Amino acid sequence: MSDPTDQTDQTGRLGPADPLLERAARLATAHLRTVADRPVLGTASVADLRHALGGPLPAVGAPAEQVLDALVAGAAGGIVGSAGPRYFGFVTGGSLPPALAADWLASAWDQNVALGVMSPAAAVTEEVVGGWLADLLGVPPTASFGLVTGAQMANVVGLAAARHHVLAAAGVDVAEVGLAGAGPLRVIVGAERHTTVDVALRYLGIGRRQLVVVPADEAGRMLVDELAAVLGSEPSVPTIVCAQAGCVNTGASDPIGAISDAAHRVGAWVHVDGAFGLWAAASPRHRHLVDGHERADSWATDAHKWLNVPYDAGLVFVAHPEAHRAAMAMSAAYLVRGDEADALRDGSDWAPESSRRARAFAIWAALRSLGRDGVAELVARCCDLAAQAAEGLAAIDGVEVILPVELNQVLVRFAPDDDRHRRIHAAIQAEGTVWFGGTVWQGRPAARISISGWATTGDDIDALVDIVRRAASA
Ligand SMILES: *Cc1c(COP(=O)(O)O)cnc(C)c1O
Repeated sequence: MSDPTDQTDQTGRLGPADPLLERAARLATAHLRTVADRPVLGTASVADLRHALGGPLPAVGAPAEQVLDALVAGAAGGIVGSAGPRYFGFVTGGSLPPALAADWLASAWDQNVALGVMSPAAAVTEEVVGGWLADLLGVPPTASFGLVTGAQMANVVGLAAARHHVLAAAGVDVAEVGLAGAGPLRVIVGAERHTTVDVALRYLGIGRRQLVVVPADEAGRMLVDELAAVLGSEPSVPTIVCAQAGCVNTGASDPIGAISDAAHRVGAWVHVDGAFGLWAAASPRHRHLVDGHERADSWATDAHKWLNVPYDAGLVFVAHPEAHRAAMAMSAAYLVRGDEADALRDGSDWAPESSRRARAFAIWAALRSLGRDGVAELVARCCDLAAQAAEGLAAIDGVEVILPVELNQVLVRFAPDDDRHRRIHAAIQAEGTVWFGGTVWQGRPAARISISGWATTGDDIDALVDIVRRAASA
């Protein structure tokens, strides 16, 4: 390098056109350009990765560009093509380019959203995306919100607010006496709830014995009559009901409006785990699937799934801001807030973390680039592609599409027996053009295909059907 100002100097200051960061951008772009053409699962063994990335920590550092190259070379074979168009595993969105670019800036700006005064721009951007998303997802505009890592932590926050609120209604200040001093608390969940609900409850001191499990129908929806029977007709113990928008296996949503009405009759709180399913509300064609969800009390969702924002980004909304704040807010004498700062949002009042990355910039960029119509179109397009996949797969001999597609999830089984299912699924995964994961549905192995990425097209679905057809006839 002839111009020393073009490099990271010894004090960590950057020159006017730092080649390291430009090189990183070029490498990232090259990855995204070619991700669709490479095997979806990495090709390196775990031993390869440990060898390339591990070993003892060197005593002496290395030049920055060399470090970057070593990371890229060492990680390459273990990078999963989840940013590409043919990854149908779990519920995984890619990254919309504007969201990714904004996320890069968020890292470069290195803003902390714990307190508004730490980054007025980040605080205001959070405020803006919270309002935009409440509007888009049909959550009451008066709801408070917090930006978290994902639906797991959104469930923690929503349920922490719920715990505070239902106990306060029974005259208990849980922040003061703790659960140990709080008396009984009952949580009602559906049989097909996501496992992160159980984890969230465990974090909050609520054990399996406090859970009442309500059975679900054939698509995984909580049965409202059974719920009503559990709730009874009189307010009794403080109660939280966990409903779901979007079952990971089937895409089906609980009847959230009816659940809310039944729960509210006896003073219970309704929390909705809507990691991806809540996004049905953003599409006029699909909104009916979460009908009445605005009557719930808290909502958890992800931005890194269907909004296609880079990891990690989730959101929680709470219809009772005082309970949300009481469960999360931070206060300490040294957190002096000046006049100007008073008008700014303190992110730490609404999320478990104190210091936290400015996730709002990427969400802002995704929403600003798509607009309301673009989000609706993205959601509807994924659902249409899921229907296309189901139709193509159902036409293949020995492939069973277990349920009609309701949203963006396709649940399949390779008939007739579990051994053949496992064999064919493994062959598809090994082939490497597409990837989708396994599950257990009604006691038997099945596979679930999730269409959540902005880059997936009809051609990718044709390729998926083609691969399955070849594997099924081999
Ligand atoms: C993905 C998912 C979660 C967990 O979300 P994370 O983003 O992994 O924290 C919770 N609930 C449902 C229904 C999900 O689909």
